[in-house]
Amino acid sequence: MNFESFLGNIYFGSMDMERFHSFQDLEEDEITREVIGKYLEVTKKYPPSYLEQQGTIPAELLEELKKIGYFGLNIPEKYGGVGLSLRQYLQVVAEIAGKDLALALISLAHLSIGCKGIVLFGNEAQKEKYLVPAASGEMIFSYALTEPKIGSDAKHIESKAVLSEDGKYYILNGQKTYITNANYAGGLTVFAQLDSEKPGFMGSFIVETTWDGVKIGKDMPKMGLKASSTAAIQFKDVRVPVENLLSQPGEGFKVAMSILNYGRLALGAGSVGAMNQSMRDMEKQSARRRQFGVEINSFELIQEKMVQAKVDSYVASAMTAFTAGMLEDHPQARIAIESSHCKLFGTTRAWDTLYNALQVAGGSGYLATQPYEKRLRDFRVTTIFEGTTEIHSIYPPLFVLRNLNKHMKAVHPSSTSKLVFLLKGLFGKADWKLRFHQRVMNRAARLAKANGRSVRWLLHAGLLIYGKNIQNEQFFLRRITNLSLHLYGLVAVLAKIDGAKKMGRDISEDLRILSYFLEVARQSRKRDKRLFRSRKEALHKNVAKSIIS
Ligand SMILES: Cc1cc2nc3c(=O)[nH]c(=O)nc-3n(C[C@H](O)[C@H](O)[C@H](O)COP(=O)(O)OP(=O)(O)OC[C@H]3O[C@@H](n4cnc5c(N)ncnc54)[C@H](O)[C@@H]3O)c2cc1C
Repeated sequence: MNFESFLGNIYFGSMDMERFHSFQDLEEDEITREVIGKYLEVTKKYPPSYLEQQGTIPAELLEELKKIGYFGLNIPEKYGGVGLSLRQYLQVVAEIAGKDLALALISLAHLSIGCKGIVLFGNEAQKEKYLVPAASGEMIFSYALTEPKIGSDAKHIESKAVLSEDGKYYILNGQKTYITNANYAGGLTVFAQLDSEKPGFMGSFIVETTWDGVKIGKDMPKMGLKASSTAAIQFKDVRVPVENLLSQPGEGFKVAMSILNYGRLALGAGSVGAMNQSMRDMEKQSARRRQFGVEINSFELIQEKMVQAKVDSYVASAMTAFTAGMLEDHPQARIAIESSHCKLFGTTRAWDTLYNALQVAGGSGYLATQPYEKRLRDFRVTTIFEGTTEIHSIYPPLFVLRNLNKHMKAVHPSSTSKLVFLLKGLFGKADWKLRFHQRVMNRAARLAKANGRSVRWLLHAGLLIYGKNIQNEQFFLRRITNLSLHLYGLVAVLAKIDGAKKMGRDISEDLRILSYFLEVARQSRKRDKRLFRSRKEALHKNVAKSIIS
């Protein structure tokens, strides 16, 4: 089977060797440094705590950010943007998200998801009309998918768009909520159902906030990200010209998900930035603070937190860059599993790191005068938006199962041939081999391969045992995701080190990090390769019964 997906193909026994061997991690270049430098210069008068107190981004700062091209970082130069490549852009994201996520979010939401649909799916007229003001910051964009009754189950949103009788407009009705940038926005990418009989048959529309029938609510009070605008938006009989439909009627859900691939990568990069910032804080704090007559960085339990942060940041960075490389070559490449992994790994590990950074600072870490608590409050939402941790923990195997089922329906319609196909799938081999001079790299490659085989085995065995009910076996699905997550981490790190070696760089530090991560992956494998429930998972049912009446 060919899934046209890097990881999907690994599960089914083959690896895109060219992709692996051609990967080179990008060094920070002059343009990226210049962009970051300008950003730091402009924002130095506005410390994160000041912006938080203001609860908004001051107009003069917005103007300065517009002038340095902050709203057009990854928009092509042709439309007035800075024209950064995806990987350059993600390096900038890592840097600015680490400094102040609340401020970074205005451009993240605008560029990574708000107007990304126009970059990816817009026709030339739409690009000319909207990307030019988007790049200058004259028209900031929001991405509007979530609704009061529908969040994770995005295919079933209730907003509707009906084509007018003269075929010139779509009449848009519905309500969106928690929309980032809502009160800064001049433009929105809005998703709505086109056919009430076919959930998921959607349209994606460019909507201007000044149009009749568009009503933006007041900013919602939040636990963090206070300078970022988050509000509900109502659409009442809004006349959206047909020229403002992105892509084809019915393609809206695909558009929404393709955009989120980019958003999730940006969250992966932002997580790297948050981890790096916390690393620097932990290093400084633990070298300065003395207890029991020594610096606290001499204690293993303090070192452990820094080691974890260093390894997690390295792995998240490798995964994000490797995935971004695929999108740079093919902007609509099928990287749903890979970007989901970047988001899941990055945001969950960064959350742990932020927690640990506060812990290393001891009592002082708890004070509101220190940056730690704000960073935790700001970052908390990243495990919720753009797909919650729970959804990303089950989504990759569900995605593959959907493809498997489609394949079986088309090629193996009878029950017997389905059964034969599934049984054969249990014993398939992997036809790829990675060989290196370093033993640890070979061991990592072997574990990655074993995880790939286990994912395939579990998917086939799971279908045989659970049948259609497999989608409700969430512990089982999460174990598969964990195997795949570590497989991807290992492969991305191997590709990064392999690329660095080819460039003649010293890789001794990289190999130490790989050794540590390999052990983490091994422990996960021990836990996660099981087909049947662990004892704890089985006991869960008994306790859950008394909670869910
Ligand atoms: C600050 C902020 C900014 C946001 N910005 C935007 C934006 O710009 N644009 C936009 O469209 N949306 C935005 N969102 C919305 C965000 O994407 C949603 O909140 C998120 O997708 C979750 O949806 P929900 O809140 O409806 O939670 P629900 O989907 O109702 O989920 C509630 C809980 O149930 C869990 N759950 C749901 N389904 C399953 C399942 N199948 N299995 C296991 N657990 C499950 C979830 O993981 C979660 O823990 C933003 C949200 C916030 C808080």
